[in-house]
Amino acid sequence: MANTELLIGVDLGGTNMRVGAVTEDGKVFHRLKLPTNVELGLQEVVEKLIKTIRQVIQEAVSNGDRIIGIGIGSPGIIDIKSGIIVSSPNFPQWKQVPLKQIIEERISIPTFLDNDANAFALGEKWLGAGKDVQSLVCLTLGTGVGGGIILGGHLWHGVNGMAAEIGHMTVVPDGLPCNCGNSGCLEMYASASSIVRRIVIALQAGESSAVTDYVNNDLTKITSDLVYHFALKGDSLAGKIMHETSIYLGIGIANLINLLNPEMILIGGGLTNAWDLIYPDMIQEVHKRAFEVPAKRVKIVRASLNDNAGIIGAAGIAHLNLKKLSKYIPS
Ligand SMILES: [Zn+2]
Repeated sequence: MANTELLIGVDLGGTNMRVGAVTEDGKVFHRLKLPTNVELGLQEVVEKLIKTIRQVIQEAVSNGDRIIGIGIGSPGIIDIKSGIIVSSPNFPQWKQVPLKQIIEERISIPTFLDNDANAFALGEKWLGAGKDVQSLVCLTLGTGVGGGIILGGHLWHGVNGMAAEIGHMTVVPDGLPCNCGNSGCLEMYASASSIVRRIVIALQAGESSAVTDYVNNDLTKITSDLVYHFALKGDSLAGKIMHETSIYLGIGIANLINLLNPEMILIGGGLTNAWDLIYPDMIQEVHKRAFEVPAKRVKIVRASLNDNAGIIGAAGIAHLNLKKLSKYIPS
């Protein structure tokens, strides 16, 4: 491969940053993954990010390829027009960070930012399971519950760029308090971290589970995967938590179906490891609550891009913006 136009995709997560060069048809090259080390502070993280991007660019260029744009997906509230990270739960100290400007000044390649869940939705629409549909709602079930909505083939950002906060739709009045200030958000019941939180609350309230012995009474060692595996083995409390998760997810999805009548609901994130356990209860709840015609029509599927989803989605942001630009700037 030489003389190919490539896009850099940056998946800027709270734990890891992943950077890669992506072709128009979604092949990922020169992939790098480094710990973000948020605790080192904004300056250090930005320097590390620039160094990593430069490394990927260098490898691509030494192969004879050209980088035409950089896309960055970051959790939090993003001002997409100016490319500013307004605030982010994963980077609590970061306020109004003009990341687009910083990268463009240092690297001199057009750079574009969006929310990571929007990037994920865009990646799945561009090259993944959502390729052939025009209306698509994506949910990512990880530390939180992220959302991205594509309508008529376009990402729906909302008037402030804050649309698709699916994780913060209320599913339980007076439910568990959420970081956003609301209580009873879907994120408190359908994220991987919420599974851990709810089983710990139950154990501390005196309920019992074989998980406790497995972690030698150190409840900080419980992970959502552990709860899932104990649920599979028939542990009653673990099973109850997983069942509850499926029901709340089903409620959220039924609301989305009634609201948008989409062709596809696509679910990604770490919790999809438990797909076989979650899916039957979730789908039953969806059909119990949603209108019959749209519920029958919608395809509810797992995300398909897996490990490279973040990089591809982020590259997709650049791809989309550059295409838009090229409409106005004839070559
Ligand atoms: Zn919330």
